[in-house]
Amino acid sequence: MASRKVPGPRDEKIVIKVVLVGDIAVGKTSLRKRLVSETFSANYLATLGVDFATKKLQVDDKPLELQIWDIAGQPNYHSVADRFLKNSDAALLVYDLNNNATLSHLKERMERIISLNKDEEPAFIVVGNKSDLCESDMTPSEINQYFADQGIKFDEPIQTIFTSAKTGENVELAFKRLGQKAIKKLIPV
Ligand code: GDP
Ligand code: MG
Repeated sequence: MASRKVPGPRDEKIVIKVVLVGDIAVGKTSLRKRLVSETFSANYLATLGVDFATKKLQVDDKPLELQIWDIAGQPNYHSVADRFLKNSDAALLVYDLNNNATLSHLKERMERIISLNKDEEPAFIVVGNKSDLCESDMTPSEINQYFADQGIKFDEPIQTIFTSAKTGENVELAFKRLGQKAIKKLIPV
C-alpha cells in the first residue's frame, strides 16, 4: 500500500499513510474513531495486527485521504512496530496528559521513527490527549521545548496540540495540521 509521492492533476486526491504512535491506553484508537465517526470505515487487518481507517480531508484546497494505521493492542516486538513505522508519510505521536510517563516514552519512539526513515522523514505532530480530564501543567510550547532540550531533531520544528477524544476538542485540527505538514513534504513549493 504505497502512497503516491508525486502530485497528480488538480483535484486528484493525495493519499497519506498516517501511523498512530504512543503507549497503550493513551487514546490512539479513540482519536481515530472520533475522527472518522461521521463516515465510519474501519477494518481490522489481522495479518498485520493493525486497525485501518480512512478519512478524507480538504487541506489548503487540496483533497487529501488519510490512511490511518493503528496498531491493535500493544506491539510486543520491535520488529512489528518497525514494519508498521517504515514508509509512513506522517505520524501522530500521542501521550496522555494525565500520565507523564507516557510523555517521556515518546522520546524513544521519535528516535526510532527518525532512524527508520532516514531517506524521507515523516511529518509528525505531538498530541497530548485526554484534555477533558485535567489541566496540563505545561503549555504546548513548553512541551515543544521539552523535546528540543533533549536534543530531538526532526527536519521540522515540533508542534504539540492538546486534544480530547471524548469531547472531540482539537481532534480534527490535529489530523489537519498533520496532513498540512505531510503535503508540504510531498509537494515542496
Ligand atoms: P489506545 O490503547 O492508545 O488505543 O487507547 P484507547 O483509545 O483504547 O483508550 C484507552 C482508554 O482511554 C479508554 O478507556 C478510552 O475510553 C479512554 N480515553 C481515550 N481518549 C480519551 C479522552 O480524550 N478522554 C477521556 N476521558 N478518556 C479517553
Ligand atoms: Mg488502540
